[in-house]
Amino acid sequence: MSARIIDGKAVAQQIEAEVAAAIAGLGRRPGLVAVRVGNDAASEIYVRNKAKKARELGLTGTELVFPDTMSEAELLAEVDRLNRDDSVDGILVQLPLPRQIDARKVIDAISPAKDVDGFHPINVGMLHLGRPALVPCTPAGVMRLIESTGEAIEGKHAVVIGRSDIVGKPMAALLLQKNATVTICHSRTRNLPEVAKQGDILVAAVGRPIFVTGDFVKPGAIVIDVGMNRVGPEFAAQLAHDAEKSRLLAKNESVLLGDVDYARAREIASWITPVPGGVGPMTIAMLMQNTVTAAQRRRA
Ligand code: NAP
Repeated sequence: MSARIIDGKAVAQQIEAEVAAAIAGLGRRPGLVAVRVGNDAASEIYVRNKAKKARELGLTGTELVFPDTMSEAELLAEVDRLNRDDSVDGILVQLPLPRQIDARKVIDAISPAKDVDGFHPINVGMLHLGRPALVPCTPAGVMRLIESTGEAIEGKHAVVIGRSDIVGKPMAALLLQKNATVTICHSRTRNLPEVAKQGDILVAAVGRPIFVTGDFVKPGAIVIDVGMNRVGPEFAAQLAHDAEKSRLLAKNESVLLGDVDYARAREIASWITPVPGGVGPMTIAMLMQNTVTAAQRRRA
């Protein structure tokens, strides 16, 4: 039997509608400032899209761009200015930063009340204590996707593959908060497919295309694929079993793959997220929601 698809675009639209309604209730436009330093092509697109979506939903979305020669002291001064600007509710500094700037110092300098990426140590600590926090957007979005299935999380065994600060670790904390029994796997985990196969919920955040094969998936599991990997013709043989991805690869010379072998996993799982159209659309939607939450809490 084929798994049901979790439609990330539809769930993201629902969150965007909630955000727009919350802004109407707030009586003022929450302000999001996205800071970019240098000319990283991917960062340019991410930051532009975040600011654009903010404006679409009724926030003020400002993009601040600085040259890659900017010093650490100059960026810290800019963050300080934004911290003190009352019209700014959310600050995000797009990573990676140029070599001369220590990203950790910059994240630590953002006011925790305006840290809409949820990367500040205060927010990380609050999340792990189960106290109200600004939560990293991608794992927060994954929780909404799992909840959209209507399946209970409590008591289920959730296996998270990946332990990064921005996805794996906060993902595990959020699942634990909802009373799942959580296992975190990483590059030193032994017998990974066997461990993963115990998961009633399996979240893959590895950064390796179609790494999670059918052998990792428990029959009936909910499978969430966080991975986003663009690959070229060198992947043709490995995609031979996936008619749709093979067609896209032949047509475009590259194709976006998740960490999960979707064609195989969907024959085993009960629910599954596609790539693209699963976790991807959720991240920006949750950023908007975090900004509104920050605005509400700062005014409370
Ligand atoms: P990351 O910082 O590189 O972390 C990858 C994790 O996977 C690490 O914990 C690593 O283990 C683990 N890992 C690597 N190889 C492994 C292996 N062979 N077996 C088991 N575990 C292994 O990546 P990330 O930032 O968490 O991102 C993960 C993926 O999600 C990427 O594809 C990224 O593009 C995607 N992503 C998507 C969104 C979105 O909006 N959809 C947002 C963020 C990230 P160690 O800790 O032991 O090294």
